[in-house]
Amino acid sequence: MRTPLIAGNWKMNGLSEDAVALAASVSDRIGGLDAIEIVVCPPFVHLPAVAERLRGGAYLGAQNCADAPQGARTGEVAADMLADIGVRYVILGHSERRAFYGEDSAMIAARYTQAMESGLRPILCVGETLEEREDGRTEDVVAGQINDVADRLESSVGLGDGVIAYEPVWAIGTGRTATAAQAQAMHAFIRGVLGERDPGLAGGMRLLYGGSMKPGNAADLLAQPDVDGGLIGGASLNAEDFAAICAAAARG
Ligand code: PEP
Repeated sequence: MRTPLIAGNWKMNGLSEDAVALAASVSDRIGGLDAIEIVVCPPFVHLPAVAERLRGGAYLGAQNCADAPQGARTGEVAADMLADIGVRYVILGHSERRAFYGEDSAMIAARYTQAMESGLRPILCVGETLEEREDGRTEDVVAGQINDVADRLESSVGLGDGVIAYEPVWAIGTGRTATAAQAQAMHAFIRGVLGERDPGLAGGMRLLYGGSMKPGNAADLLAQPDVDGGLIGGASLNAEDFAAICAAAARG
């Protein structure tokens, strides 16, 4: 019912030659994995070259989009510009954006709205810090992050056909992964939060796990009933590892 989705977040890595080589290598390794959706999210400047090299083998994703339509927003990239060059997905509210660039729920909701209006599918990132987990506030924080954005969206559209990525901040880029049981518990909780907003949404919305997912732990995490895929950082920079995670998702 929910098509598994594996998205690679390349973050701010690679010159153009590296991006094209990685796209080529990913492309060569993912043939036949038609049962799942695969997305690669290179830095903005590499999107056209990566699109050219992927030739439809995987969807193209961006790592952010502007919170306003085209106009006076120096340094930003409008959602319709991304859609225009073939971008299908956009990561929003990544913890690095929240921590380093002060993105808050109002701004993330504005970006989400722009993405939806341009036909992009948002991948909304949520997740607690280690301190919040140790204080027993994980569920409150994550429910708050979802509701604070969803409450600001047009009620007629809501979260729409977006995707939520649960990414515990303490597991991102640290090599420390949530256990499969911790991931499942939070994904089930998130589905409950969505169900309170709209029962129809809860069953259909895809929930990704993100945080040091690697070939060695992917199968376990992806086997959980409420884990519909992964948002992959470090391991997406290695085509072999990324393809192995995609293959694990395709096996179910
Ligand atoms: C991420 O940044 O979205 C992420 C999951 O990174 P990593 O896989 O490196 O933890």
